[in-house]
Amino acid sequence: MSKDTTGTLYVVGTPIGNLDDLSPRARQVLNAVGLIAAEDTRRTRGLLSSIGVKKRLIAYHGHNEAQQTPVLIAKLLSSESIALVSDAGAPLISDPGLVVVRAAREAAIPVVSIPGPSALTAALSVSGLSTERFVFEGFLPRRPGPRRSRLALLSRESRTLVFYESVHRLPDTLEALQEHLGPDRLAVIARELTKVHESVYEGTLAELGKRMSGDILMKGEFVVMVAGNEITHPAEDSEVTRVYELLAKEIPAKKALALTVSITGASRNRVYSLTRGG
Ligand code: SAM
Repeated sequence: MSKDTTGTLYVVGTPIGNLDDLSPRARQVLNAVGLIAAEDTRRTRGLLSSIGVKKRLIAYHGHNEAQQTPVLIAKLLSSESIALVSDAGAPLISDPGLVVVRAAREAAIPVVSIPGPSALTAALSVSGLSTERFVFEGFLPRRPGPRRSRLALLSRESRTLVFYESVHRLPDTLEALQEHLGPDRLAVIARELTKVHESVYEGTLAELGKRMSGDILMKGEFVVMVAGNEITHPAEDSEVTRVYELLAKEIPAKKALALTVSITGASRNRVYSLTRGG
């Protein structure tokens, strides 16, 4: 089937709280497509009724992605256009969508982004933490073993860390973060962004842990952001230099530099400027 007879899969961002954040383009696409694939049809019906749109909906969520994908692809191939939405924010960002997007791309069906809000970018943009480089971790594993391994891997990460978290697990998560990243690491928690109880808390992991576990009225949705390792430990320069000097006595400067980077977790640039490349 030639490309111009297929429909288009629109990946549509929807509000993360405030309905006014639905973009005019998203509204237009939701109105124009033949079908909307929604993570939760009831919730999406609510959004559609707020903009006066009535549309056929089909459920597409984490438990039926594999079954629904061929159904959606068949419709797209028969020239029906489909909008994919999740409950809130950007589809595929800790939300369903990857299976159908991949399948559509493989079938040469146009996949078009209608970007909108995401808790990830909304939270980062008000955090005051470095946004030059960051790592999006989504939800940490629930089970203690895998969670420990994940956090151990992240303990030396120098980029800003971003996690999604639910209210039930927030205290445990803050405790685990303290344990692995250290109680003094600077962090920011963005809660209920764009909603009535929107708030942004800043402090060390220890301070935030205390504050969140003491607040029994704490409710809502949260993004937890933690400063990267380097930013909070500028005092460790002497340790970086010490490791480098020890190594440089035994091995060539270039190798000593590379090893210092992996042992201390400091960036290559930082090791270089501290030691002036040996
Ligand atoms: N796809 C969504 C996005 O682009 O942000 C994320 C979906 S994920 C299943 C839901 C998580 O996103 C929540 O548990 C919370 O961590 C975060 N989240 C969603 N809305 C939020 C809001 N208004 N304020 C803070 N965090 C939010």
